[in-house]
Amino acid sequence: MVGGRVEYYTARPSWLKRHRSLNDNIFSANDSDPSSPLIVSRDRHPISRANISPSALKVLYRLKEAGYQAFLVGGAVRDLLLGLNPKDFDIATNAHPDQVKQLFRNCRLIGRRFHLAHVRYGYEIIEVATFRAAHTTIDEDNSVDEGGHRVLDDHGRILRDNLYGSIEEDVWRRDFTANALYYNIEDFSVWDYVGGFADAQNRIMRLIGDPETRYREDPVRMLRAVRFAAKLDFTIHPDTEAPIHKLARMLDAVPPARLFDEVNKLFLSGTALGAFDLLVKYGLLEHLFPDLAAALLEAPDGPAARLVRLGLAGTDERVRADKSVTPTFLFAVLMWPAIQRAYKNSARVEGDEISALADACEQVTYRQAARVAVPKRFTLPLRELIAMQPRFDKREGRRALRLLEHPRFRAAYDFLLLRAAAGEADAELAQWWTDIQELPPEEKITLVEQPRGEHKTGDDEAAPARTGTGTGRRRRRRRRPAVKTTS
Ligand code: ATP
Ligand code: MG
Repeated sequence: MVGGRVEYYTARPSWLKRHRSLNDNIFSANDSDPSSPLIVSRDRHPISRANISPSALKVLYRLKEAGYQAFLVGGAVRDLLLGLNPKDFDIATNAHPDQVKQLFRNCRLIGRRFHLAHVRYGYEIIEVATFRAAHTTIDEDNSVDEGGHRVLDDHGRILRDNLYGSIEEDVWRRDFTANALYYNIEDFSVWDYVGGFADAQNRIMRLIGDPETRYREDPVRMLRAVRFAAKLDFTIHPDTEAPIHKLARMLDAVPPARLFDEVNKLFLSGTALGAFDLLVKYGLLEHLFPDLAAALLEAPDGPAARLVRLGLAGTDERVRADKSVTPTFLFAVLMWPAIQRAYKNSARVEGDEISALADACEQVTYRQAARVAVPKRFTLPLRELIAMQPRFDKREGRRALRLLEHPRFRAAYDFLLLRAAAGEADAELAQWWTDIQELPPEEKITLVEQPRGEHKTGDDEAAPARTGTGTGRRRRRRRRPAVKTTS
């Protein structure tokens, strides 16, 4: 043990003892003292300071120099072990938040009740959390809810405060073993209380403690299991995966705003397709996107199902190529099968397809908001993107040119391409919209003013197109008048 500064946790709670057998391998380091970690020295792990953010190193060193314990924790240690680039660097310490604040000018205390320290270096924020006591509830923002930990007298004075703990307590409130590794700045060793080092090496996602209890404490852990398994190409340990099916419905009680954040992390981290398959496998999808799950169940091999898969694969490609991705497009993809289903089931009148589609979109986004709260800044452009789909059918006249100028054209066009790739929109139509963008302005005008039969890029009567809303019905194209209908 390092520097003699470890405050041993003496009174192990009974639940912690119960799970000792589950994580038996971890105590092999020092069987006589079950609270001592397996310490992996610097020469036995690949984590190099060269791969740690200089800002995180500064914070670690300053805490250490001030006499505190300071560890890099969580995803950063796990990712560095796996040879990946961590998304962010989180630090755990035995310094209390106000003590951290005193050490850094660029520090702000945040969290619902001011329990995390954020140290800012330019755009980078290093999160410094004080070790938490066992049973510390974690808020959605990963801060601590002190409600259950402070005992106040009638005047609101604090009588007892057992919020903070030692590293030995902190470790047990973490979710997965691979997320519970501590990199010690004192000697660059990794401390492992729960077998996370071996699990990371064997690519296993394993919940710390009794899985059912841990999911009941926080059902979002089911989504985190899926996310990490997909992102890191880990297998979910059989004990960790076993209760998921049964407990999936607990997601229904999670605040929709938190689920929005989790869904974004699931689908915008470069492994959306893998995450999607796992959500389906574990029966979680129907609790996040009930309408999507129902639509897929109805037509598992239909174009809408293909569109979702192609859309997620495209999102993954963009993330890997470092291109921007937006929740607007992602949610359009995830809601499209339900929108189409609602559209098909709607009592629409001929010529009213555009507003029927808008209504279907409205219904689906409204229902979806009860599960995953997509903020308005994404649903408004999403509705525009969807509403533009039937307008792609109308290639003739200046209105086609106006569509090209629409601020959402690019996203709506990308969505059209996706629909064409899924076999739901006409490939020739998509090609026409691809081609017209390449033309100089005067040729664009000529193209849209040509009678349909004379389109250079156009098709002929022998190749009828599918309708813009993907109803699958074929339509006979009239030569005149120039503007087509969608059915
Ligand atoms: P990444 O940042 O790469 O998505 P991460 O593991 O760092 O992954 P964060 O959400 O940043 O995940 O959380 C940091 C750490 O906090 C986790 O590694 C885990 O130890 C702990 N943690 C976060 N959320 C929970 C939770 N819901 N239950 C228990 N522990 C959690
Ligand atoms: Mg993290």
